[in-house]
Amino acid sequence: MPEIPDLEAIRGFLNERLPGQTVAAVEVKVPHVVRTGAAALAESLPGDAFAETGRRGKFLLFALASARVLAVNPMLTGRFHYGPAGAKGRGRTCLRLALSGGAELRYSDLRLMGRLYLLPADGLDAIPNWTAGGPDLLDPALTEEVWLERVRAYRGRIKNVLTKAEFVQGVGNAYSDEILWEARINPFTPRTALDDGDLRRLFASARAVMAWATPLARERMTRGETLDYAERRDFFRVHRLGGEARCPRDGARITDIEAGRRVTSFCRVCQPGGPAFS
Ligand SMILES: [Zn+2]
Repeated sequence: MPEIPDLEAIRGFLNERLPGQTVAAVEVKVPHVVRTGAAALAESLPGDAFAETGRRGKFLLFALASARVLAVNPMLTGRFHYGPAGAKGRGRTCLRLALSGGAELRYSDLRLMGRLYLLPADGLDAIPNWTAGGPDLLDPALTEEVWLERVRAYRGRIKNVLTKAEFVQGVGNAYSDEILWEARINPFTPRTALDDGDLRRLFASARAVMAWATPLARERMTRGETLDYAERRDFFRVHRLGGEARCPRDGARITDIEAGRRVTSFCRVCQPGGPAFS
């Protein structure tokens, strides 16, 4: 699932290429992913031009010259692709936009859980739950003090708090493991067992992991003028590395614990606590 570093990497790449390009042609291959109507999108997008692409939480926000925004939440399996027109596409293509510069932008989605909305720039609150979520992790208004105040409202295990969109947006299962490793906090620790020092360190770690991972994610996803989502994020320090003796801090064996359909990974040496079983 794309999280902040992946989406920031895509955003950075596209912002060097998309602004000013006009949509030359639109092909909607899976209409129901376009929640605001595939026909309306196919009719009104040609001729419109891209401005800067933004992001909020797990949404990429493609601003258009017409004062509209194409908002895309890729959910689990939505992927963005950019490259020469007609290149062999990976994944299940849902939307293909031919661009005036000769390249094309594609959105693919294997499980078709992603959601696209074409809305007026001032009408994004028509997106379900748009106003219900907490601040984006990278929102400058989310200061350490605001973080402390917000996190105190939650009592569950710290990993579950970190991945709750109503607390903070943009962190999912994979990067929450990386953040907790960075902060040396066991993912199963109840929030109430963490003191202010721990919670401040968690905030700094969250921001540091985003800054560290974004250029690495970009490196894996892009080659020259081509962007393709990389499924393998081989720079992770703990996530899904269970059984391997490779904690970068102490060389200890990483533990993976599967609960539901989520894997939580951590190092028992530098992130002590949590369940005793393995
Ligand atoms: Zn360790």
